[in-house]
Amino acid sequence: MNKNILVIPGDGIGQEVTTWGQKALAKIADKYHHNFTFDIALMGHEAIEATGNPLPDETLAKAKATDAILFGAIGHIKYDNDPSAKVRPEQGLLKIRKELGLYANLRPIKLFDELLEASSIKPEILKGSDILFFRELTGDVYFGEKKRSEDRKTASDLMIYSTYEVERIAEKAFLAARTRRKKLCSVDKANVLESSRLWREVVQEMAKKYTDIEVEHMFIDNAAMQLIKDPKRFDVVLTANLFGDILTDEASQIAGSMGMLASASIGDKVGFYEPIHGSAHDIVGKNLANPLASILSASLLLDISFGLKTEADNLIAAVEQVLKQGFRTKDIANAKTEASMILGTKEMGQKVIDLI
Ligand code: NAD
Repeated sequence: MNKNILVIPGDGIGQEVTTWGQKALAKIADKYHHNFTFDIALMGHEAIEATGNPLPDETLAKAKATDAILFGAIGHIKYDNDPSAKVRPEQGLLKIRKELGLYANLRPIKLFDELLEASSIKPEILKGSDILFFRELTGDVYFGEKKRSEDRKTASDLMIYSTYEVERIAEKAFLAARTRRKKLCSVDKANVLESSRLWREVVQEMAKKYTDIEVEHMFIDNAAMQLIKDPKRFDVVLTANLFGDILTDEASQIAGSMGMLASASIGDKVGFYEPIHGSAHDIVGKNLANPLASILSASLLLDISFGLKTEADNLIAAVEQVLKQGFRTKDIANAKTEASMILGTKEMGQKVIDLI
């Protein structure tokens, strides 16, 4: 298969981990005789420094022309401490999602048995958890109108959804549920928010068409609690942009660490694959970042964008194997892990590559 892949490492640990996702794809191409051509582009703080724009036109043009995108993370401490900065790294990410029509963010929460002890949740609660989140990605307070009063003392962000935006992501979630345990939980705050009431009406209406799927509606506050109390009760979770952002970070604890979770953003055309974590200022440049989420993102890319299931499973198996051998990065190690088994970013990345 001949394919073009655009790699956007971004900022902070994005640079450190994405190289391993790319190397994993290159090794797969070699092993299975595919021809993947890689190109690199700038986004986020790096791009602002180089061009003044968090999403340079050149990056957007390359993104529109490629077959799939492997992304790292954006963000820099300078902007986190300066909320009034007009040009910000995250504008690049929000714009590329909008421009590429990436309205559905899929976040599989897969727990490797080897990491049962890495989570702060009890192993007996966790074992067997397998959740697929569908987070809406191009609506909600992220894209609604933002206002600040003239005296700057009052601010608002508009939480807004239209029927078609809910329908198109719900459709994907219902179809995914059909290939899994046939359960769908739609999470909203319909007791308080009008946009959530619209969300619930649309999902209820669509449920009439998917009679083989068991549909449940849950308020976000309850869902946040149930996720920790009994994660196994969930199969497919469908939710809005803001709720999904928060719930999936919480759910990362089911997988042991943010460094283990991959995501796929899909929509009308090109797919965009990235770890769910950010640029992690606290560990940048220390060879401490877990590269497994980037490698698992590469696996999603192979599966979803290229339909290469065997190759995608090969990457997951390599990750599983490294964990079985007892190797850990610091974020997924625990008190019982021997120091000699704790690897840095580069060493962990190389172990996986060697096992593909
Ligand atoms: P973060 O995800 O960067 O880090 C949260 C915590 O998880 C940190 O303690 C970090 O060390 C740890 N962590 C994250 N990824 C890890 C990995 N691969 N291996 C080991 N540990 C890991 O979130 P934050 O600290 O809230 O934000 C830092 C910056 O990232 C901010 O500028 C924020 O805007 C940005 N951000 C970007 C994205 C994105 O690009 N998609 C997402 C979230 C945050």
